[in-house]
Amino acid sequence: MERLTILGSTGSIGTQTLDIVRRNPERFHITSLVAHSRWQELAQQAREFEVESVVIGDKSHYRELQEALKDTRIEVMAGSEAIEEVARSYRSDTVVNALVGYAGLHPTYLAIESGKRIALANKETLVVGGDIIMGAAKRKGVEILPIDSEHSAIMQCLEGENRRSIRNLIITCSGGALRNISREELAGVTPEMALKHPQWSMGAKITIDSATLVNKGFEVIEARWLFDIEPERIKVVIHPQSIVHSMVEFTDGSVKAQLGNADMHTPISYALLYPERSKEAMESFSILDYPTLTFAEVDRVKYPALDIAYESLSRGGTAPCTMNGANEVAVAAFLNHKCSYLDIVGAIRYALDNASFEARPTLTTYDEANDEARELAERYLQRR
Ligand code: NDP
Ligand code: MG
Repeated sequence: MERLTILGSTGSIGTQTLDIVRRNPERFHITSLVAHSRWQELAQQAREFEVESVVIGDKSHYRELQEALKDTRIEVMAGSEAIEEVARSYRSDTVVNALVGYAGLHPTYLAIESGKRIALANKETLVVGGDIIMGAAKRKGVEILPIDSEHSAIMQCLEGENRRSIRNLIITCSGGALRNISREELAGVTPEMALKHPQWSMGAKITIDSATLVNKGFEVIEARWLFDIEPERIKVVIHPQSIVHSMVEFTDGSVKAQLGNADMHTPISYALLYPERSKEAMESFSILDYPTLTFAEVDRVKYPALDIAYESLSRGGTAPCTMNGANEVAVAAFLNHKCSYLDIVGAIRYALDNASFEARPTLTTYDEANDEARELAERYLQRR
C-alpha cells in the first residue's frame, strides 16, 4: 500500500485525487488530509478514508473540526506549522500537493527533504522556487510527478526519449474564458465572465489565471524547471479544443503529442500510478468527435502576462516570486470586485518594477519577496 498525504483535499484537484484513490483501494491508503476552510467536507473525507490525521489551515475552524471528529481516533491539527508537519511526516510515502498559491512552497520543500515522492499540482511551488525545489529533489533522489495536464503530456511524450533529442516543448493553451472577447472589451470584464472557462472546471484562482494567461506563463516557468530546458525552447500555442494537452518537437523534426478528453482525472492518475496506467478509461476518447483541431499564435498584446512571465524567468532570482505574489493579491481583489480585470496585470507590472531583487534567493528570501510583492500589489490597487 502506498501511503498518501493530500494537501488541498477539498479543492478541485484534491477531490478528483480522492476519486482516483476510491477507484484504487488496494493501492493507496491516505494517512493525512489537509484543507484550509471547508472543515465539514474535510471531516467527511476523513471519515470515508479512515485517515490518521487532518489539518485545517485556517485555525478559526479548529474547534468545529475537532467537534465533528470527536467520536473518532483521527488526530485534528490546525495552522501552517501543522501542514508542514504532515508534509514531512514519516507516515506517508507520497505527498499530493493540491494547495493553491504560495502556501504550497514550504510543504513541497519539506516533503522533498523528507524523501517523499511528490505529485505536484501546486505549480506556484515551481514558479516561485523551481531552482531550489529541483535542486533538493535531485539531491534527495525524489521524483516530482506533474499533475498539470500540459506537463503530464510532456512527460508522457518524453518517455523513452533521449533528453538531447528535444528541440522544443510546445505547450497548448485553450485561450481561457475571454478568448472570444476583443482587446477593447477587456476593461469591462467581470469575475463572472472570467470564471466561465470553456473546457475545464477548476478552482477560482487558476480559472482567473487562465483568463489572463498568467497560468500559461506559470506553466512555461514550471516546464523550464521540471524538464530542465531553456525558456527560448518552450513555445505556447493556442488550441481552443483542449484535446492536444501539449507536444514535444524532436531534433529529427518529429513531433509527439498527448491527446485525450479534458479531464484532470487522467493526469492525476498518471502521476499517482506512474509508471503504470489506470486500467479503466475515465471516459473513452474518440478522435472522430474532434474532426477539426485548430492551433493559433497567442495574441501577445491582448495577453501581456505571457511575456511578463518569460521576462521574470529570464531575470531569474526573486522575479517570478514577485510576479506570483502580486498576482495572488490582484486575483483575490478582482474576485471580490475590488479591482478591474486589467488591474491584475497592472499590479504585476508595478510589483516587478518596484520590488527589490535577489539573484540567489533562499526559502527565507522567497518569503520576504512574497510579502513585498503582496504589499506592492496592494499599494498599486489602492492608488489607482
Ligand atoms: P482549489 O481552490 O479548488 O483548491 C485549493 C485547495 O487548497 C483547497 O483544498 C483549499 O482548502 C486549500 N487551500 C487554499 N489555500 C490554502 C492555504 N493557505 N493553506 C492551506 N490550504 C489551502 O484549487 P485547485 O484544485 O483548482 O488548484 C490547486 C492547485 O492545482 C493550484 O496550484 C492550481 O494552479 C493547480 N492546478 C489545478 C488544476 C485544476 O484543474 N483545478 C489544473 C492544473 C493545475 P479549502 O477549500 O478548504 O479552503
Ligand atoms: Mg495546465
